[in-house]
Formats: sequence, C-alpha cells, structure tokens
Amino acid sequence: MALRFFNTYSRELEEFGPSDPSTRPIKMYTCGPTIYSRAHIGNFRAYIFEDLLQRHLELRGYKIHRVMNITDVEDKTIRGAREAGVPLQKFTEQFKHAFFDDAQTLRIKPADEYPAATNQRYIDRMIELISALISKGLAYQADDKSVYFRINKFPDYGKLAHFDLTQLQSTGRVKHDEYDKEHIGDFALWKAWDEEDGNVKWASPWGPGRPGWHIECSAMSMALLGDQIDIHCGGVDNIFPHHEAEIAQSEGVTGKKFVRYWLHCAHLLVDGQKMAKSLGNFYTVPDVVAKGYTGRELRYALLRVHYRVPLNFTWQGMNEARESLMRIDEWLTRLREVAGMPHRGVRSPQRADPALQFENALDDDLNISAALGFLFESIRETNRALDQNDMDTVSANAWLSWWKRINSVLDVEAETDLAIPHEVAQLGDERENARRERNWKRSDELRERISALGWEVRDTKDGPKLTRGAKRA
Ligand SMILES: [Zn+2]
Repeated sequence: MALRFFNTYSRELEEFGPSDPSTRPIKMYTCGPTIYSRAHIGNFRAYIFEDLLQRHLELRGYKIHRVMNITDVEDKTIRGAREAGVPLQKFTEQFKHAFFDDAQTLRIKPADEYPAATNQRYIDRMIELISALISKGLAYQADDKSVYFRINKFPDYGKLAHFDLTQLQSTGRVKHDEYDKEHIGDFALWKAWDEEDGNVKWASPWGPGRPGWHIECSAMSMALLGDQIDIHCGGVDNIFPHHEAEIAQSEGVTGKKFVRYWLHCAHLLVDGQKMAKSLGNFYTVPDVVAKGYTGRELRYALLRVHYRVPLNFTWQGMNEARESLMRIDEWLTRLREVAGMPHRGVRSPQRADPALQFENALDDDLNISAALGFLFESIRETNRALDQNDMDTVSANAWLSWWKRINSVLDVEAETDLAIPHEVAQLGDERENARRERNWKRSDELRERISALGWEVRDTKDGPKLTRGAKRA
C-alpha cells in the first residue's frame, strides 16, 4: 500500500511522496512548546504522534529534517516572568529544561533544530517578513502602533480551518478589545510595547515591541526549511488561528504553497473530560511518574490510539499499557533464550511476513491500532510455537530482528542491562544454593520473594537468570 496521510487542508487521505523525487530530506516542522509552564501529557500526545510519524517515515527510507520551535516570547511567558519578578529568559529557561527532560523520559527523538523565537536572527527575519507584508498591502500599522495582518486581502484565509470569514465575526471567539483593527479577525504581527511588557522589547521600523506568536513560526520555519515545508504538524488546537495565520503570512510573502501536508493530532481527554487545572485532572509527565509508572509505559499509553481519534487517558489505560509491555518483555525473553541456544533444530512453520502487515498498517495514515493488533497476534502465535517447542534458533532470531525493526518505530523496549538490585541478586544466589541442595520448598519460597520485588528468575541452560518482573504489576 502506498504511504498516505490525512491532510487537514484537503480533508482527504492523500498519497505521500516527496515533491522532489531525489533523496533530499523531508522537511518537517512541528510547533513546539510555549515555555510558560510545564507541558502537560496532552501536549506530549501530539509530540509522540510526531515522533511516530518521523520514525515511520525513516523506517520507510526517508530522511527527515525536523524543526521544532520553542516559543519563549508571547503573552503568557511575559505575564509569567512579570508575576515571578524575574527576567523573561530566566523564567522560560526552567520550562525549557523541563520540556527536554520530559521528552527524553518519553523517548521522543530530538528534532534537528530547536529555534527559539527570541534569537535575534529570527527576530530580524520576522521584521523582514512583516515589512514585506506591509509593502504588499497585506499588513498595516494601526493607531495603537501594533502591526496587523489584513485578512480580507488574503482570499485563502480560512481554508485550512474550513470556515469563512463571516463566521468569524459571529462566533465571538475573538476578543473585541483590539478596536484599532480594521477587521475583527486581523491578527497581530508585531505588538507595540506597553508598560506590562517591562524590558521585553526589540527595536523595529514600527517602534519598540515584540513579535506576535504566529509570525514566529513562519519566520523560523522559512529561515531553516525554506519557502516550502513537506509536513507541518501540531495539535488540532493549532489549526485556527495559528496555522491559518502561518499560511497567510508565509504565502503572503512568497506567493508559493507553504505546506504540502498538514497533519493534526486530536485532543487528549482525562476520564472523558477536557484536562483542566480546575478539575484536578491536569497531569504532567512527572505527575504520572510519581504514581509509579515509567516513561515507556506512558509513551505506550499515549501512542496506542490513532492520532486523529481523541484519546481518553485513564489510570486503567495506564495499567493496560503496562500489561501490554509486560507481554512484549516476556515474549522477548523467551525468544532470546531460544535464539541463544546452539542448534535447536525443530523447524517452525513459516507464516506470512508480519513485518509487512505492521508496516502497511502504519502506511495507512499511521494506523497504530491495526499495527499493534498485528504485533500481539504475532506474539500469541509465537508463544504458542514456543510452548510446543516448535521454534528453532533461526526463526527465533528472525523474530528478534523483526522486533528490532518495528521497535525502531515504537521504541518501547525495556531498558536493557537493568542493574539487578543487591537484595534481588542475593536472593537469587540463595535460591541457587537451595536448588543445589535439592531443597525445592526453600527454592520456591525464594522465587516468590524475588517475584514480590518485581523480578523473575528463569532457569536456563546457562544457569538461572534474573529478569525484570514479567509476572507482576
Ligand atoms: Zn507554530
């Protein structure tokens, strides 16, 4: 099956291919965090979807050049710094570090570049873009000294979000306090400095001020990826006005199509409700870890639902993720045992290549549920063969290399070389002594104690082996 994705712009599944058939990298731009507080797990759902997308494209042989911006100046970061009584950069720095820590916990591949909006290089670029828009009549400076985009002059405005401008006036979603604008939907490109901004300001042809959020992404993506991006992602929240505005700004300047494929990730709900601090259902990555879950368990829980379907986060779901991963761990342990045995000669029956089914499912707009369905079906069948001693070393190794390939996309394997705690190792030794003395009762008791500590002892040809608790939650 050809690789295809649902393009928000056309609202259709479209076949994916590079615009240029040579092997140039796919240009991917993903809207990153606004670092005014710690990102929540809903934000990370989108970043994990983008990670899955990148990894699958890489599995399919594409090279990816991915840029993720860091929004370190906009209303919320300025307000936060003012309330904390610290300089903007000092305020945002902590959340930037927290973001990278959390991304690492969730095994999200780092982007190639993380441009920050406050970098003078990009501020200069934003000013250039705004000047170009003014000279084309697409932007104007209002009486309040701020510069706005003139949406009536850009006929495609509203095409990504699929609504027309008359709707915009009636929805009341745009605040009426900016009465200097020509149209209620005109958005700020440059915000004139006011006292609340403190010393957060840059010089510009329109007086001191700061960029609007939308122009930041246009400027940074164009500076790093050129006039046209292959794939632009974000959460559904970003569609309007943020991405709509990005299109207007970038295409307004270049006259070229800005993005070939727009992909958006659906919301994350918690216990069926929208996540909100006031509802007490607002979770960050450390909140989930503090409840005893690992980063890979959370990664799996956020990954396993198709990206265009709202994901309902529950603790039950976290436990299911844990159980699924245990099944994978246990399966790998068994396969590795057989794979390590010399000349185990029973020939297992050949079956249709599950690798193809897994990868074909992901080709179909990242159908992760189907892909995982194939994985667990394969695990069931292989376990059956293992139970019946019907698995030879060659087949076991083939399954392991298949796993290695699909895990380059999933990245959910348990940490290897996990240090065995001293207490567990000691119990393991005692148990081995009990076995040598043929004291089976004592041996079984010790196995139970090891299991209670979350470890499992398996007797192999090379002696007993301790593995991370496959049997216990
Ligand atoms: Zn953006």
